[in-house]
Amino acid sequence: MKSSPVSSPLNPYHHIYVEEDIREHPQTLRILSRLPKGQVIPIQHYKDVFCRTRQDIALQHRAQALILARKTGTLIYPGAPVCQSFGNHHFYYTSLCMNCPYDCQYCYLRGMYPSGNLVLFVNLEDYFRELETRLAEHPVYLCLSYDTDLCPLESLHGLIHAFHHFLAIHPTLTVEVRTKSACIPLLRALPPTEQMIFAFTLSPDEITVFERKTPSLGARLQAAKEGIDLGHSIRLCFDPMLYVPGWREVYTQFVPTLTDTLGADHLKKVRDFSVGTFRISQSYLRFLRHTTSSPIVQYPFVNLDGVYGYPPTLAREMEDTLCDALSAFAGPDKIFRWEDN
Ligand code: SF4
Repeated sequence: MKSSPVSSPLNPYHHIYVEEDIREHPQTLRILSRLPKGQVIPIQHYKDVFCRTRQDIALQHRAQALILARKTGTLIYPGAPVCQSFGNHHFYYTSLCMNCPYDCQYCYLRGMYPSGNLVLFVNLEDYFRELETRLAEHPVYLCLSYDTDLCPLESLHGLIHAFHHFLAIHPTLTVEVRTKSACIPLLRALPPTEQMIFAFTLSPDEITVFERKTPSLGARLQAAKEGIDLGHSIRLCFDPMLYVPGWREVYTQFVPTLTDTLGADHLKKVRDFSVGTFRISQSYLRFLRHTTSSPIVQYPFVNLDGVYGYPPTLAREMEDTLCDALSAFAGPDKIFRWEDN
């Protein structure tokens, strides 16, 4: 066991739980070499730590422990009904990581997982093998980061670089990297390709207060702008839109912030835009509300076919309002709404 006297529970990754089976895996060694102060604790299986009962998710999010594991079973999943497909027929997502370095108060992960700690799966070669099986049948559109945000930890795991290399030899694969980060160094490091879409989730300042640990709206916009300048394929996501008092003003005043920061020339080069109001599977809402006192998840949502969201009239009004404002610089063919799926 490797340990360091200077690891502190106040720092993220103060403890690193490692499945014994993958202790010598090259990706494990790489990650551990980047966290020399973390205390390494061998475990049998990640669920022994991650799935314990009565964990304090809010406390764990303040300084996450890291769990390194092997993912088994299915690794590439058909897109979930609550996710946008952007018109892609062969739409999949994958889970390279469980939980997220950010801590949005409305995040469904808080209702989905029994822990606030972060699991990273190291066996990328198995993901690639399964992906190649799908690619032998048809093109694949794959979302890499619906269940997490990979960008802020790229220097730790290198997964986005690894996928970028993989794309070069698999021309029928397109991946979406969704992020709330201000990942300018990453954008500068990767040669642009249409096969890798960087999708920035943008929220008005009135909403980013519920997105703990994330960069500000201004920082995300600067990253998107730099990405466009570098020739990357950039998507802007206004999803989830959240109801707050005065939402109409909040979202209509938000659009001029975009135009002022990005400018008309950059906005024209944005690949597409996505718009969708908050929604969550019914099984996750109750647990999510247990983990946070944030008012943002206390709205009396309505249950439509197993998915909680705003009443349809309100949801439509919110999306229409934003789509109308976006139509000043984006045609309808560039704006994707979740309900269009
Ligand atoms: S960035 Fe996305 S995945 Fe991460 S906590 Fe926020 S909503 Fe959840």
